[in-house]
Amino acid sequence: VVVLESPSWWTPGHALVLLALALAVTLSVLGWVMVLRKRVAEQTVLLRKSEERFRHMALHDALTGLATRLLLDDRLTAAVEDARRHKTGLALLMIDIDKFKEVNDTFGHHGGDEVLRATADRLMQAVRKTDTVARMGGDEFVVLLPHMNDPLMAEGIAAKIVKSLATPVLYAECEIPISVSIGVCTSVMRGLDAEALLKSADDALYQAKAKGKNCFSVFTPSLHRSQTVFIA
Ligand code: GH3
Ligand code: MG
Repeated sequence: VVVLESPSWWTPGHALVLLALALAVTLSVLGWVMVLRKRVAEQTVLLRKSEERFRHMALHDALTGLATRLLLDDRLTAAVEDARRHKTGLALLMIDIDKFKEVNDTFGHHGGDEVLRATADRLMQAVRKTDTVARMGGDEFVVLLPHMNDPLMAEGIAAKIVKSLATPVLYAECEIPISVSIGVCTSVMRGLDAEALLKSADDALYQAKAKGKNCFSVFTPSLHRSQTVFIA
C-alpha cells in the first residue's frame, strides 16, 4: 500500500527522459566544440598566410622581386660562415646605375621603374641560381657570389654585367640608354668579414664612378686603392 500510494519517482520512463536530455546536452557541447575547433583552424591558416606574406615582403623588393638588404645580410653571414668552414671564399659586386636621376627626369618615374626592373632581370640572368642578387634601395644592387675563390672569375662576371647592362631598355616605344658602375671585392683581397667586404665593394664602386662610370673597379688591399677596368 505504501509503495502504491507514493511510487518511486525513478521510473524507467523518467530515466529514459533524463538519459535523452543528457545525450542531447553532450551532443550539443560536442557540436559546439567542433565548430570552435574549425574556426580556430581557419584563423590559424589565415594567420600563417599573412605571416608568410609579411616575411616575403620584408625579404623581397616589391618592384623587382629581388632580395632586400635584410635577406642579403642573412645570406652574406651564411656565406662567410660557410667559406670559413670549407676554406673557400666569396665575392661581392656592388652595382649602381649611372645617371639614373636623368632617366627619371627624362622618362618619368615609370620609365625609371622599368629600368630598375630590367636591371634586376639582367643581373639575375648574369649569375647562377645559387648566387644572391639584392636591391639595396634606390638604384643600388649587390650580387653575392658564394664559393668564389678566384678574383679573376668575379671580375669576369662584373665585365659580363657591365656589358649586358649597356644595352638600352625599351620603354613606351623609346630606347632608354643605360649603363652601370660596379665595385668588386673578394674575400681573397679583403678576408672573410661581411662588413669589411661590403664597405670595400662600396669603396671600389666609388672609384669606378670617379674613373668615368660604365666600368668596374676591383678593391686591392696592398695599395688600398682600386683597379679600374673598362669594357669595350
Ligand atoms: P650616379 O651616376 O652618380 O649614380 O648618379 P645617379 O643620377 O644615378 O645618382 P643616384 O645613384 O644617387 O640616384 C639615385 C636616384 O634613384 C635618386 C632617386 O630619385 C631615384 N630612385 C630611388 N628609388 C627609386 C625607385 O624606386 N624608382 C625610381 N624610378 N627612382 C628611384
Ligand atoms: Mg646611380
